[in-house]
Amino acid sequence: MRATVMYGAGDVRVKTVPDARLIEPTDALVTVTRACICGSDLWPYNQMEHTETGQRMGHEFIGIVDAVGSDVRTVKVGDLVVAPFAWSDGTCVFCQEGLHTSCLHGGWWARDGIDGGQGEAVRVPQADGTLVILPVGKDDALMPSLLTLSDVMGTGHHAALAARVGPGKTVAVVGDGAVGLCGVIAAKRLGAEQIIILGRHPDRIALAKEFGATDVVSERGDDAVERVRELTNGFGAHSVLECVGHGQATVTALSIARPGGAVGRVGLPQQESIPTKLTSFFDNVTIGGGPAPARAYIEELLPEVLEGRIEPGRVFDRVTNLDGVPDGYRAMNEREAIKVLIEF
Ligand SMILES: [Zn+2]
Repeated sequence: MRATVMYGAGDVRVKTVPDARLIEPTDALVTVTRACICGSDLWPYNQMEHTETGQRMGHEFIGIVDAVGSDVRTVKVGDLVVAPFAWSDGTCVFCQEGLHTSCLHGGWWARDGIDGGQGEAVRVPQADGTLVILPVGKDDALMPSLLTLSDVMGTGHHAALAARVGPGKTVAVVGDGAVGLCGVIAAKRLGAEQIIILGRHPDRIALAKEFGATDVVSERGDDAVERVRELTNGFGAHSVLECVGHGQATVTALSIARPGGAVGRVGLPQQESIPTKLTSFFDNVTIGGGPAPARAYIEELLPEVLEGRIEPGRVFDRVTNLDGVPDGYRAMNEREAIKVLIEF
């Protein structure tokens, strides 16, 4: 089969790899019908050291079940399924608490011998716990929005929950990538009164406004902090969604939280320490977040997509096929595209 392999920064290739196949009795074999490129894939795209063996890529996909192991009970051959960006058994203590990313028997796609989503097929471990059946046809018009349940919509929702978004709250979203835009959707859905998007790309800002952003801050650094304070009676935001991960974004996020507020971090941190720790300490700012247990949120968000109340699939502004994946990475990295959908 063919799949995406990254060999180093800027070096993404579509290669022939060993066919995915059932190994454990709890596995399912899924033929991928839709996948996508993630903003987090751009970190290795910019920083990865060259390797001869390469790294398989992709953690967001929808596909059709082709075969199941002897212990699989809930999914069957022919089902259309969505996979969250981490696989999990659905039964351990952490899965029962809704924290599937800490599953005792789970793991991540595209590492440790597990297939990646940016390829023709995937062996899905813990299929019963991991996969969610989609009650639509494989080419349904909702496919882009359904695919966001793998990661970005669940991650935006997680940021909003960690930042304690609720009715009447003032929310600031740091980052106008796909996760930030989904964070706007989540904040609106959870009842936020004011939603400030921090970003500067006109196409993304326009989409953020359609999703419910009420204010735009395009300044950076101290100027951004000052502008958010102006927009919030000088106090800062109750809830800050940090959807980038690098140091400046973290500093900004912590600096615009109102005393007693909360910051939900879902951008993969690119530094070891949390900056401005004294300010956030004296302001009693809660710092939460981490990798979203996307699996936990699918039951809640799937009806929202199916019934048309949210349209997170609008973050996809480019569609390609498997051969176009290397150029898709380039386009996202150069900010030509917000998020690239891969059709098989
Ligand atoms: Zn588990």
